[in-house]
Amino acid sequence: MTDGGRLDLVVQGRVVLPDRVLEDGFVGAAAGRIAVIGDLRSAGGLPRAERTLQAGRAYVLPGVVDTHVHTRSEPAEGITRCTAAAVAGGVTTIVDMPYDMPSAVPDAETLRRKIRDVNAEAVGDVALYGTIRKTGGLDEIEGIAAAGACAFKVSTYESDPVRFPQIPDGELLEAFRRIAATGLPVAVHCENQDIVDRAIARARAAGDTGPLAHCRTRPAVSETEAVARVLELARDAGAHVHIVHASVPRSFELVERYRAEGVRATAETCVQYLVLDEDAMERLGPLGKINPPLRAPADRAGLWDLLAAGRIDHVTSDHAPWTLDRKSDRTDIFRNGSGAPGVETLLPLLHDAGVHPGRISILDLVRVLAEHPARTFHLFPRKGILAPGADADLVVFDPGEAWTIRGAELHSAVGWTPYEGMRVRGRVRQAFVRGRAAYEDGAVVARPGDGRFVPALPRRT
Ligand SMILES: [Zn+2]
Repeated sequence: MTDGGRLDLVVQGRVVLPDRVLEDGFVGAAAGRIAVIGDLRSAGGLPRAERTLQAGRAYVLPGVVDTHVHTRSEPAEGITRCTAAAVAGGVTTIVDMPYDMPSAVPDAETLRRKIRDVNAEAVGDVALYGTIRKTGGLDEIEGIAAAGACAFKVSTYESDPVRFPQIPDGELLEAFRRIAATGLPVAVHCENQDIVDRAIARARAAGDTGPLAHCRTRPAVSETEAVARVLELARDAGAHVHIVHASVPRSFELVERYRAEGVRATAETCVQYLVLDEDAMERLGPLGKINPPLRAPADRAGLWDLLAAGRIDHVTSDHAPWTLDRKSDRTDIFRNGSGAPGVETLLPLLHDAGVHPGRISILDLVRVLAEHPARTFHLFPRKGILAPGADADLVVFDPGEAWTIRGAELHSAVGWTPYEGMRVRGRVRQAFVRGRAAYEDGAVVARPGDGRFVPALPRRT
C-alpha cells in the first residue's frame, strides 16, 4: 500500500501470528506483499481494498511451506499438477526435490533450466534443491548455490545410480565441507544401504514378499545408523544438515544430541508417520510402501510426544506421486515403487490428527508447517509468516468443516491417496499466492506461470 493508497486485498478472520491468534483480525495486501495486519476491535473497521473477503470464524494462516515434494519423479505429475495440488491444500510454496525423471539436478545449467520451467509452469511458488552426482560432481556445488537453490539433497541409500544415488562416505564428507561454505543446508535421506539390501535378499529367498516385509526389511536401525553417521560427518565438516523424513523418535534424539554439541542440525518427519503405522500395511498394500517404511504404533505415539514438546522442526509430505501401475503388485511388495502423494492432504491431516484433538495448538501447526521450514531453507521472512513485508501468501482454513478424502477429487495427476475414505476436520477454503487467488471453493484458479521460482534469501557464509 502506498501512502494513502488502496489495498488490493483484505482478508478478515482469525489471524494466526507466531505468538497469538488475532480472533477479530485482518490482513491487508498490496503489490503482492502484506501491507497491514490489524485487530478489528481496535481498528474500528476494515481498511478499504479492491477485494474484501470475510472469512468469519475461519483461520487466516500463512501459506504452508512444504519442503519435501517431488514434482518430476513421475512425468505424469510435473510442476503444474503438483503445484495445483499444493495450493488446493494450502501449500503456497514447495521446495522441490532434485531427483527428476529421467535425470537429476546436479549442476547450475540444469538448475537454471528448471527455474525457467518453474516460472512457465508453476501455479504456486517453488524453491529448488540441487544435488551432486554420485562421484566427481563436487565442483558444481558453488554454481548451484549461486543460481539460487535453497538447499542440497543427498542420500545414503541408492534408488537409482544416476537419478537418486548413494553418495560414498568420503565424497559425502567432502560435499558437506563444500556445501557448508555456501551457507546452505544439506538435506539427507538416511537409510543404511547394506542393512536394507541384506534384509531384502533374505526376505526374497524366504518368499516373504507381503506388504509387511517392506517394514521388516528396513528396521529402525537402518535409519538411525545413517542419521548418526551423517551427523558425525556434518559435525566435522561444519555443515547445516537437515534430516528428511525421520520416522522414529530416536532419529530426533540423535539430532538433539548433536545440536547440544553445537552442530547445526534440523529434522523433519512426515505426516504419514503421524497418521499411519505398520498396522495399516495389510490394508494399504503397495499404496502404503514408502521409504522409510510406516513404523510401529509405539514409534507413531513417540513422534506425537516429540511434536507436542516442540522437538520436531518441520512436518512435510514427501509428495511422491507414482501412478497406480507402479503401486499395484500385491504379490511382491518389493516390485512396487516407494512413495505416495500427499502435498494436498498435509495441512488438513495434521490439523485433524493434531490440532482438533488438542495434541498440538494452531500455533504449533503453523510453526512446523510454515515458519520453521521457511527458516531452515532461507526463505524466511519472505515466506512462512504473516508479517508486514512478507509475501501475501494467505490460506483461509475452516477448522470446523468435516470432509472425506477421495483420491479422485484431489488435484494431483495420479488420482489416488493412502488416506482414501478418511474423514477429516478442517478444510482449505481459499489460498492466495502473493495476494492473488490461487485456489477458491474447490477450484484451482491460478494458471501455469502464476507461480514463481523463489531463490534463497541472502545469508551469512
Ligand atoms: Zn522424498
